[in-house]
Amino acid sequence: MVATILDGKAIAGDIRKELADETQAWKAKRGITPCLAAVLVGDHPASEVYVRSKQRACEQAGLESQLHRLPADCREIDLLELIARLNQDHAVHGILVQLPLPSHLHETKILDAIHPMKDVDAFHAENVGRICQGRPRYLPCTPHGIVQLLHRTGIKVSGKQAVVVGRSDIVGKPMAMMLMNRDSTLGPNCANATVTVCHSRTAGLGDITRQADLLVAAIGKPRFVTADMVKPGAVVIDVGINRVGEQLVGDVDFEAVKEIAGHITPVPGGVGPLTVAMLLYNTLLAAKLQNMSA
Ligand code: NDP
Repeated sequence: MVATILDGKAIAGDIRKELADETQAWKAKRGITPCLAAVLVGDHPASEVYVRSKQRACEQAGLESQLHRLPADCREIDLLELIARLNQDHAVHGILVQLPLPSHLHETKILDAIHPMKDVDAFHAENVGRICQGRPRYLPCTPHGIVQLLHRTGIKVSGKQAVVVGRSDIVGKPMAMMLMNRDSTLGPNCANATVTVCHSRTAGLGDITRQADLLVAAIGKPRFVTADMVKPGAVVIDVGINRVGEQLVGDVDFEAVKEIAGHITPVPGGVGPLTVAMLLYNTLLAAKLQNMSA
């Protein structure tokens, strides 16, 4: 069997077009332009690329974007003061602090300083708690993009055995929570899976992943998931972005696994473009939520 390739890039393009239309209509009605403020600390080359692509996507969809830069050796108080200013600024609807931060800055403290209504990455404890309770305000962009991909390609999650490899706060944990919940913003078919979460201390990883109807790999290790770890016909979602020489590769051994899986996302062109699209979705939603009576 050769797997169907799930074209995340094309689906992200559809979502971005829908969001551009929706933004234009909302702007015309309310006279407000949704605005994302990105904060970049230091000059990490990958972070520069990510922030630039998020800004470009904002502009293409008719959203405004701001970039606030601080030096890599900035004091924590300077970053907290910048976030406090952006929290107060009514023209800013979403705030994004690009990760990773330099090690002297306390990530949790910084992310929790963002006002929960402006937390378009959905990393604030309040927004994470709401997802756990099945009443989300914002959904984190990468897992939300994956749910959109599954929904838009007609893949039902409800009742399936899902295995998520990785338990990060950004991908693995919220992904597991969203798949496990009773309902989703796209209906119960996109939730209600039976979910197993694996990590670096998991014993017998392959035995567990081979049970998965839906396998999500968010590990950060190139081509880690091999064909013998995959159930024939499974849906395989590769979140990983790893640079190997000049090449970008995922956490899944794509060439071998595509011969076994039923559906698979490529890298690049799979989950990555959806992450950016869902950031636009959250920024528009943030503008709407902050201007309910405007
Ligand atoms: P983290 O490093 O925060 O988490 C990696 C997870 O993988 C951890 O839970 C870790 O376990 C687990 N892990 C590591 N080694 C093994 C192993 N041998 N067996 C089983 N589990 C293991 O990474 P992120 O979640 O932030 O990112 C994962 C990947 O996804 C990266 O390649 C990243 O670049 C990419 N990414 C892509 C995005 C996109 O838009 N496509 C967005 C965000 C991330 P433990 O907890 O025990 O350490």
